[in-house]
Amino acid sequence: MNVTVIGTGFVGVVSAGVFSKFGNTVYGLDVVEPKIKGLQQGKAPFFEPGLEDLIQSSLKNGNLKFTTSYPTAIKDADVIIIAVGTPSASDGQADLKYVFAACESFAPYLKPGAIVAIKSTVPPGTNAKVEALLQTKTHVPFHTASLPEFLKEGSAVHDALYPDRVVIGARDPDVTHKLLKLHQPLPGEKITITPESAQMSKYSANAYLAQRITFINQIANLCEKNGADVQEVIRAMGQDKRIGQHYWYPGLGYGGSCFPKDVKELAAYSRAVGEGDGLFVKIDQLNDKRITKLIDKFAAQVGGWKNKQVAVLGLAFKPNTDDMREAPSLKIIPALTKAGAQVVAYDPKANQAAKVILQNLHTTDDPYTAAAGSQVTIILVEWPELISLELPKLKAAMRGNVFIDTRNQYDPTEVTAAGFEYIGIGR
Ligand code: NAD
Repeated sequence: MNVTVIGTGFVGVVSAGVFSKFGNTVYGLDVVEPKIKGLQQGKAPFFEPGLEDLIQSSLKNGNLKFTTSYPTAIKDADVIIIAVGTPSASDGQADLKYVFAACESFAPYLKPGAIVAIKSTVPPGTNAKVEALLQTKTHVPFHTASLPEFLKEGSAVHDALYPDRVVIGARDPDVTHKLLKLHQPLPGEKITITPESAQMSKYSANAYLAQRITFINQIANLCEKNGADVQEVIRAMGQDKRIGQHYWYPGLGYGGSCFPKDVKELAAYSRAVGEGDGLFVKIDQLNDKRITKLIDKFAAQVGGWKNKQVAVLGLAFKPNTDDMREAPSLKIIPALTKAGAQVVAYDPKANQAAKVILQNLHTTDDPYTAAAGSQVTIILVEWPELISLELPKLKAAMRGNVFIDTRNQYDPTEVTAAGFEYIGIGR
């Protein structure tokens, strides 16, 4: 099949790699020239495990090409996958301007019968808007569909190759059939539903996961008031099969490019259709306040931040990525600095990306150098390297002994035995 993926960001470039791996002829198209130049040479625009290997093997066998040219990429495409960004607008609704701009650009080159599948996260009702727009720009018949994406940055290639499920939202049985064929090599349940259900399934999944994080943070707050350990609570609570042990992350709240915006967008959508926004807006508000609350709590525990040297370990929004979008470090470091602390930071992959945003940030090439002379070490991200630190080496490097584990990755007894004062979350 001839497939064109529009937008070569995290989702687009991974999708293009996966569809080309399965023998389709794939174009990845973007409007950012340097990104496309890099991709043509097999260079991923960001760090993602396994991505460059995936791209390079398809570039080599000729199944994958990258271009900025709409006519080249669209004229033979059987399936056009829209994977451009959909940030939240100022009122919280999904801003569809990149989706519409892409449609305006490709409409004149559509081949009759082409399927326009929206992979970007968009609210129900978007397909009708896209159809109306395309009809003003082309006379050829086309179809629309929804292909929501569930991959996670940091394991995006693996998730895309081994998805838990593939969701195909289409009304026309022929379209469903063709999209099933395109996804046939992938394992995982194929769920064929309407575009509206597909789009709701994406927002619901993200809002539910975000809600789990917010929920356990509320429970962690209570544990701190009564001497319970939230990790023990999770162990006990998670034995209930309706609840499970997985996906409980007490900590700094959720970040990244998806959960914050998707919760906001679901709240705005709920408001727009007259259902109010109670639960979704509350999740968003609690998450928004989470870091300020924790910074104040830690400040009280360490005797204030003024003149403290603080080693901040982990800058990206999660492990195995250099993506800084909505990373907790972007709130925490300015808050620490504003309160009078000197910050020295380290991330295995995101030092450079962080410095683009936090311009005067002092970073180091390893965690122990970041901790040299510090009174406090604070772990923000559970990179494998940062959850297996040599505690005696860290202690020897530091001037003080405060160890803040915002991911609850260490055994408090072991950390205390190494001479630290341990501060975790909800324990
Ligand atoms: P991104 O910002 O990394 O990439 C978007 C790309 O689209 C950019 O390279 C941009 O240059 C390009 N673009 C913008 N307008 C264009 C146009 N008119 N023509 C061609 N290219 C254009 O975004 P992302 O993180 O890959 O997310 C894309 C969509 O997928 C969003 O709707 C997001 O919510 C959704 N999603 C993201 C993830 C994730 O983990 N990042 C997971 C699931 C779903």
